[in-house]
Amino acid sequence: MPRPSANRVHSGTMFGSRTDIGCVREHNEDSLVVAPPLYAVADGMGGHAAGEVASEVAVRSLAENAPSTVDSEGLGNAVMTANYAVINAAQEKGRNGMGTTMTAALLERDKLAIAQVGDSRAYLLHQGTLQQITRDHSLMADMIEAGEITPEEARVHPQRSVITRALGSDPDMQPDLYEINVSAGDRLLLCSDGLTTMLEDNEIEKILIRTRDPQRCASILVNEAIAAGGHDNVTVIVVDVEGDRERQVKKTKRKGRAWAVVIVLALIATVLGVCYGAYTYTQSTAYLADENGKVAVYQGVPDTVLGISLSHLDHVTDVNVDDLQPGVSARLKEGVIRADSLDAANSLVDGYQEDIAAGKKPTAEAEQLDASTDAAASSSSADASAGSTSSAQGGTLQ
Ligand code: MN
Repeated sequence: MPRPSANRVHSGTMFGSRTDIGCVREHNEDSLVVAPPLYAVADGMGGHAAGEVASEVAVRSLAENAPSTVDSEGLGNAVMTANYAVINAAQEKGRNGMGTTMTAALLERDKLAIAQVGDSRAYLLHQGTLQQITRDHSLMADMIEAGEITPEEARVHPQRSVITRALGSDPDMQPDLYEINVSAGDRLLLCSDGLTTMLEDNEIEKILIRTRDPQRCASILVNEAIAAGGHDNVTVIVVDVEGDRERQVKKTKRKGRAWAVVIVLALIATVLGVCYGAYTYTQSTAYLADENGKVAVYQGVPDTVLGISLSHLDHVTDVNVDDLQPGVSARLKEGVIRADSLDAANSLVDGYQEDIAAGKKPTAEAEQLDASTDAAASSSSADASAGSTSSAQGGTLQ
């Protein structure tokens, strides 16, 4: 089965949701709607699966009647219509006492509207802090507000699941309405009491902060409620407020472009590094060549790569090529004499100058020495080495 991933709709809203039966109940009586800009959680009640019917009738009616823009009054009217739908369904099926909570939200850009009935909740994570938006319609909430019990005592109170307002019984029922301005980066959480009775608000807050992907976040919240006992059905909707979509898209594009630049720079650095290494290597060697009849010393190798010369003229000596021993001069006229380094090339020239100053052409021994230096110098290039060596031997024989 593919992993659930965050859902995204055209408006740029990111959301995730999950509902689970939990560990104890025989039915999942929770229902939910995720139809942006509408999001809702309903927690049904009433024996023999009546709660399942109540919550499902309520969310279906809500989805049909909710406004398509963030309009709190319209949302409140849709919840009242859902109330009638549940009352009618109960009468048709002869199921008195069937009812449901309803926490409904309309969220678009920076506007949030909420309609609330019962003890399911809406929370907003804003700048790393979780705040409960809705007030529970429950006996516990009333007693806490009256200062009769503490929230800790309410968690274990025998009447902790008694709710004071629900859909399905009173035709005059009115939802609480909330209108809130939200900003990009905020996160909306809608949940049934199966989450909030199992996890403390600070545990919920931590998960909402650290789990970036909203679908993954919804799944983790449900998993944690189950791990904590799963005494009730658990339903969670997580919606990320993306604010002004244009700005978000630009930010993403800029991030993508930055990465492309980093990759291209890394490639350029690699290519330059390789070229620099190869160039440095070639520049450690040297060679002698005939420069208009004079012996010239070059640094590098007598080759070109992509039209770029891999050598440069170090200096032209005052040694005439024609004054050299015939084998040497023949080699310079045909090509070059390679050396390990600039120093080795200069010492070859020094040898030639000494010989000329002594009034003689370089000896056969000196010639042999030159040839072996040459062969060693160009050992990295078999062809050049073989060519130079054979022509040097030819010179020696003359
Ligand atoms: Mn419940």
